[in-house]
Amino acid sequence: MSVFKITFYGGAQMPTGSNFLVEFGGKKVLIDCGLVQGEKYSIPMNRESFKYDTSSVDMLFVTHGHLDHVGRIPVLVKAGFKGIIASTEPTREIAELIMLDSMGVLGKEAMHTGEPPLYEEKDVLQAIHLWSIALEYEKPFIFKTKDEDAIVTFHDSGHILGGAIIEISYKGEKIAFTGDLGNTPSPLMKDTTELKDIDYLVMESVYGDRNHKDKDKRIEIFKEAVVSTINKGGTVLIPAFSIERTQEILLAFNELVESKQIPEVPVYLDSPLGINITRVYKKYESWFNENVKEIIKSGDDIFAFKGLVQTLSPDESRGIASDSRPKVIIAGSGMSNGGRILFHEAKYLPDPNSTIIIVGYQSVNTLGRRIVDGAKEVMIHNMPVKVNARLVNIHGFSAHKDSDNLVAFVSSIAKSLKKVFIVLGEPKSSFFLGQRLHEEYGLDIVIPERGDAVELG
Ligand SMILES: [Zn+2]
Repeated sequence: MSVFKITFYGGAQMPTGSNFLVEFGGKKVLIDCGLVQGEKYSIPMNRESFKYDTSSVDMLFVTHGHLDHVGRIPVLVKAGFKGIIASTEPTREIAELIMLDSMGVLGKEAMHTGEPPLYEEKDVLQAIHLWSIALEYEKPFIFKTKDEDAIVTFHDSGHILGGAIIEISYKGEKIAFTGDLGNTPSPLMKDTTELKDIDYLVMESVYGDRNHKDKDKRIEIFKEAVVSTINKGGTVLIPAFSIERTQEILLAFNELVESKQIPEVPVYLDSPLGINITRVYKKYESWFNENVKEIIKSGDDIFAFKGLVQTLSPDESRGIASDSRPKVIIAGSGMSNGGRILFHEAKYLPDPNSTIIIVGYQSVNTLGRRIVDGAKEVMIHNMPVKVNARLVNIHGFSAHKDSDNLVAFVSSIAKSLKKVFIVLGEPKSSFFLGQRLHEEYGLDIVIPERGDAVELG
């Protein structure tokens, strides 16, 4: 008899749609239930029915609040899941905002296609109702099975606020799911916790084949891009993910503006979700790293500075277009596949004096990816838009470990590991990382396909 059975229902040979089923001791546990992210939320893969009996799943553990890890939870609930959902407290708050925010996009998509939306508000509210357990890092959670108790432990992944690596220990075997691993040292978060004595690792690989070469210089590159654009009288566009990236960019502006390294210009945070998530971040200041806690202790509001304008309402957002001064606009979505950034891109991408700064991973089939790939013309709201603005792509702001740091992360458990499953990456990233881990540590590597199941122990 095996100890664990894992089935890779999502996030296998793709970076998004995280969803793994773990069976042990007569119990069924899910790790994450995320959306596959592409051009639209309601792409066919997100509409497929679940390949397991959702009503028989006992618990869902959530690594962190990103949409590709939580966005399909309301669909799961709609499909009969009645178990308990558990995560850290900030993850629950972030996930609630993220799931409710996605309703707007889903409603619009449904209007266009005539199909029913992927889920409705009542499904989100039911998911929040089932989300009844808050876990803390390094505080073991006892999970009853038909025989021995299992122990579930959350470790700090250092990825975004509340992010966790989930470790399950049962019958002397330990399996860990990394979720997404943070780009330690992060400007805001603590370092990723070093794991110990793990037998099986299910590991992310978004940047498995690349390094963030510009990480040490990211602020320099950022500053130069902003200053030179302002000097030309242009507009700086920053498509930013609402979680973590927006707060890191605000933190960077806070430092650069207050130390007078960049001139005081209007910096619009044109993202209701970004504004709301920033409020959650402010609530959990004790989760930040020591450096940031010191700055807060000195009396500085790390997410506020002279020139910052938060535009919550659509009217305020539209008002930005009539501001002809040099300025900065931070808006979602982070991959330009929806949201307010599109209106600003339609206006400023044709302007050679303006600059678009890319600060995050851009999935295939997104507008952001086409811009990064050097398209000279793109379609926005069904209209052709010339891309004359300067493109500055800064990898160092990534919230993910790069290839070298993913390899380094495994070193503390390389001796105890019996198998590593590489997931949550485009195939070339996963295979490249697998090759590196095999060469570095002689590890047994598996790169599962969607739907593959394995028995362990
Ligand atoms: Zn993530």
